[in-house]
Amino acid sequence: MSTTDPTHRTVIEPFKVKVMEPLPFPTLAERERVLALAGWNLFLVRARDVTFDFLTDSGTTAMSAAQWAAMMVADESYAGSRSFERFEAVVRDVTGFPHVVPTHQGRAAERLLFQTLVKPGDVVPSNNHFDTTRANLEQLGATALDLVIAEGRDPRSLHPFKGEIDLGRLEACCREHAGRIPLGMITITNNTGGGQPVSLANLRGAAEIYRRHGIPFVIDACRFAENAWFVKVREPGQGERTPRAIAREIFDLADACLMSGKKDGMVNIGGFIATRQGAWLPALRSLLILTEGFPTYGGLAARDLEALAVGLEEALDERYLDYRTAVSRYMADGLTARGVPVMQPPGGHAVYIDARAFLPHLDAAELPAQALACELYRALGVRSCEIGSVMFGKVAAMELVRLAFPRRVYTQAHFDYILEGFEEVVARKDAIRGLRIVEEPPFLRHFTARFEPLG
Ligand SMILES: *Cc1c(COP(=O)(O)O)cnc(C)c1O
Repeated sequence: MSTTDPTHRTVIEPFKVKVMEPLPFPTLAERERVLALAGWNLFLVRARDVTFDFLTDSGTTAMSAAQWAAMMVADESYAGSRSFERFEAVVRDVTGFPHVVPTHQGRAAERLLFQTLVKPGDVVPSNNHFDTTRANLEQLGATALDLVIAEGRDPRSLHPFKGEIDLGRLEACCREHAGRIPLGMITITNNTGGGQPVSLANLRGAAEIYRRHGIPFVIDACRFAENAWFVKVREPGQGERTPRAIAREIFDLADACLMSGKKDGMVNIGGFIATRQGAWLPALRSLLILTEGFPTYGGLAARDLEALAVGLEEALDERYLDYRTAVSRYMADGLTARGVPVMQPPGGHAVYIDARAFLPHLDAAELPAQALACELYRALGVRSCEIGSVMFGKVAAMELVRLAFPRRVYTQAHFDYILEGFEEVVARKDAIRGLRIVEEPPFLRHFTARFEPLG
């Protein structure tokens, strides 16, 4: 159902195409050869052998004519660039935070902020930490605590805000680790689980707890616009507000945000820290100059700042957000209707297929999610991402295949074509064979391990 166009059921792409990129169409025989050459690891497949690339929504956005136009008029001055002023003004306006520190992407923002605030032995709670966030904290000797609500860990729960933090556990955590929590976080939307939103009520509750304990509240804001949209359409009393007003209220609850522009910044590279804590700035800026660049470009070209300034505004457009959230809903509904079990409700940027439920003839040692991801490539030319035993390096609680959707890239006809192809996958699913690992590195094995079909 469209929220922005009540006269139509179909939610359309709210744009027309100006620059097109042809899709690669490898044949079935070619895809089978590609899989064998890549050792059944989709990270080792070349993009030009992929028809539909759903590996990630990060940095894969199609930019608008307005973004490309802004890039052409960028001011590439080393210091005091006009493009920085424009970027800073937009970030201030959207977030309300007066201080803006550009970085080349989200993890650089994490590293800078954590290096200035976090000591060994510290504890940092969140709903779920994204993997780079966790790694940057652990690298400093701190503990990253995940306190998502129980419904957020249950694939069958239909809770409308599965990304919420458990306020009871948060309160207990703040008491237990008093004096050792240099900042508290919440990720919106919660990337874990495919972009499950957090309600305004829950954000208010967390902010109140953090404030009462004197803990600065930092929002991981990568998908702040998608989260604001879910608040608008799902939270009682929020339906008449603009996503921009909702986003602003969320930022008003916090002391700072960390942002990867590669998500709701609608750009291919870029990020920032924004904060109202002026006291953090001298240390942040020194580290920035040491490792990223001068404070008015922070590791980016001025043209990237221009694209991000325009992208942040475009991400808050209601027609865009209505369409954006319709994509994963459409795919989740289409897959469910064809007998493919997916995690419900779908989040903002991805759909997760439950490979264990779909392929009950494979046990965990036969790597069902990896096997299904490879089958989707073999049969449909779709690249997805295994989130299961291969990624976690041990038998995982769930065997999931994630389809993450790039912004403004694929059309409804593409999704219909893929759903049609799934019918064939469903018909022959009992013949899908498991995989075994034949080669693996000691860390982060999912990126480079090689596999071989069983039997
Ligand atoms: C992508 C992401 C990051 C890290 O951003 P990069 O730009 O990839 O470095 C941090 N947090 C969340 C929730 C993300 O999705």
